[in-house]
Amino acid sequence: MAIERTFSMIKPDATKRNLTGAITKVFEDNGLRVVASKRVWMSKREAEGFYAVHKERPFFGELVEGMTSGPTVVQVLEGENAILKNREIMGATNPEQAAEGTIRKTFALSIGENSVHGSDAPETAAQEIKYWFSDTEIVG
Ligand code: ADP
Ligand code: MG
Repeated sequence: MAIERTFSMIKPDATKRNLTGAITKVFEDNGLRVVASKRVWMSKREAEGFYAVHKERPFFGELVEGMTSGPTVVQVLEGENAILKNREIMGATNPEQAAEGTIRKTFALSIGENSVHGSDAPETAAQEIKYWFSDTEIVG
């Protein structure tokens, strides 16, 4: 296994409920290290660009609305097998289907307001990190 970097977001539904620290602690307790972090209030244009892959989906409008409704904490997480590990820690997209102990099972409100985002593959991780961070903002 290799040390990888993945991109993570603590979404507005979670930052509004003051869960930034609680969620970050789950990453750290599972061996992931926060090597970049900033709090942003994303514009409609930024949200639409980030989630462009979903633009034809029926929930796209709702997704963009939710992501622009409050602050998001964008982070780069580093660790062994970080991309897959983070997806496991997050749990299934729908919190009703998420495993016990996962972030979404513990904190998410619904499939739309599901508290966290995590990259799903090495290519998307690289692309998503670049969307939000310059190289000098990542300090491993
Ligand atoms: P994941 O975030 O687990 O990778 P997807 O990439 O499929 O999930 O979807 C991106 C985001 O879009 C989800 O995290 C969720 O916020 C939202 N979403 C997905 N499916 C639905 C749905 N059926 N209804 C409302 N929002 C959805
Ligand atoms: Mg996804």
